[in-house]
Amino acid sequence: MLGACSRFPRFFQIKGNVCKSLVATQSYSTSGDADLVVIGSGPGGYVAAIKAAQLGMKTVCVEKNATLGGTCLNVGCIPSKSLLNNSHYFHMAQHDFASRGIKVSDVSLDLEALMKAKTTSVSQLTSGIAGLFKKNKVTRVDGHGRINGPNEVVAIKSDGSEEKITTKNILIATGSEVTPFPGIPINESNIVSSTGALSLSKVPESMIVIGAGVIGLELGSVWSRLGAKVTCVEFLGHVGGMGIDMDISKNTQKILTKQGLKFMLNTKVTGAVESGGSIQVTVEDSKGSQTLDCETLLVCIGRRPYTENLGLDSVNIEADKRGRIPVNERFQTSVPNIYAIGDVVDGPMLAHKAEDEGIICVEGINGSVPHIDYNCVPSVVYTHPEVAWVGKTEEQLKEEGVPYNVGKFPLLANSRAKTNNDTDGMMKVLGHKETDRLLGVHMIGSVAGELINEAALAMEYGASCEDIARVCHAHPTVSEAFREANLMAYCGKPINF
Ligand SMILES: Cc1cc2nc3c(=O)[nH]c(=O)nc-3n(C[C@H](O)[C@H](O)[C@H](O)COP(=O)(O)OP(=O)(O)OC[C@H]3O[C@@H](n4cnc5c(N)ncnc54)[C@H](O)[C@@H]3O)c2cc1C
Repeated sequence: MLGACSRFPRFFQIKGNVCKSLVATQSYSTSGDADLVVIGSGPGGYVAAIKAAQLGMKTVCVEKNATLGGTCLNVGCIPSKSLLNNSHYFHMAQHDFASRGIKVSDVSLDLEALMKAKTTSVSQLTSGIAGLFKKNKVTRVDGHGRINGPNEVVAIKSDGSEEKITTKNILIATGSEVTPFPGIPINESNIVSSTGALSLSKVPESMIVIGAGVIGLELGSVWSRLGAKVTCVEFLGHVGGMGIDMDISKNTQKILTKQGLKFMLNTKVTGAVESGGSIQVTVEDSKGSQTLDCETLLVCIGRRPYTENLGLDSVNIEADKRGRIPVNERFQTSVPNIYAIGDVVDGPMLAHKAEDEGIICVEGINGSVPHIDYNCVPSVVYTHPEVAWVGKTEEQLKEEGVPYNVGKFPLLANSRAKTNNDTDGMMKVLGHKETDRLLGVHMIGSVAGELINEAALAMEYGASCEDIARVCHAHPTVSEAFREANLMAYCGKPINF
């Protein structure tokens, strides 16, 4: 059956002359051909697809991008961590090696090679997912997936052709996109989103980052280490975004300021114009407004759910005010056999949250009782030192009227941190005043992103601070500082401080 131009949605019409290359639609021959069609192959979608196939479901994953892995692998977690890691080495070679007795001269940056290392990691990992799909017998279908009814997804190819897939269940894992700043159009060259900031072709002399949340701090750190003068302008009164403990936020700001980043808090960006090769950014705080100049402007004010041309209206699914798809605890939308997970639903926009939801959702479809404790989902900022947390902040406990003990331990008193000459940071533990149950853990330290998983494990198993303090920890390790903070939380006194 040949399609007529008029049959195609706006999505294709805005792409100009795509209609003329339409080819016949292709249908699976039997109804209920697939058990599950996953739309989107980010960490939520690809993990769910593999799990579903492992559970015996005939699984199809529809992805509109040329490579699998979604935001996380292509323009998110993975490329940003590659740049963070290698820019940290560059910074160390310039500013730190000498004090360790390592003499290096003529340290210089090869930005092209640094970017190539990033691209190599990304392509190895995205093609790794293609391999995993093959191994687990997940069928990959290229194209923009559009729901055409409770049991049908159409994959619209770049040449305009369509592939129809009938299915028992649909899982929406379409993720998120960069939130635009009204009035400041992104050109991904000198006014960039996080995506453009991962691929700049030269180190700008100066950079203004709108937003000192997690991504702003990470990418600001990268370009600051590589030589840019970076100023983060933040509307809130603190850095690190929502959900960070205020003690930790203040300490993080102090450490990053020492590294050369500048922060303007409680400050609103009201506009930006480009002229004479630079960008003039107007900002406003309680004292009035001023104009700042920069070579590159990074707009980093968050991400929003992505559901464009997904066909939600064909099944009467309505997104909420913030564009998220409402789901119940089984991740079912208002249509019982259509599920949604990851950035496109409520909750922290994190890759591991999307992965866990994917697995739990698919297991739920197969009969298990879905359960996820969002209080035990850790967060990490991959600056140096890293910043990580799980559970409640001190501010939340106060607000909720929960009685608590605090245990703190500075890395300055930790033997491994001292040995490594990497003492910026602290451990902060919050335990219930009466039961000693661990309620929240907040850390700054070179390996906080790894160590926070010990805290998450302890919280998942309902450990008390005493439980952790009595577990033998290897010496010398930074994790001993975590143990000491627990010791302080439950009995008031650490040993080594
Ligand atoms: C710079 C940056 C750094 C980050 N760092 C971290 C980090 O260190 N740790 C962390 O946990 N999180 C991080 N994140 C967030 C993380 O990337 C997201 O939370 C995560 O990718 C969400 O996964 P998802 O599967 O829900 O969606 P996504 O990863 O956004 O994947 C959605 C996929 O669906 C596809 N898609 C969308 N619509 C359709 C359609 N109709 N048809 C077919 N395909 C479609 C998209 O092309 C995409 O591939 C970072 C994000 C950014 C931008």
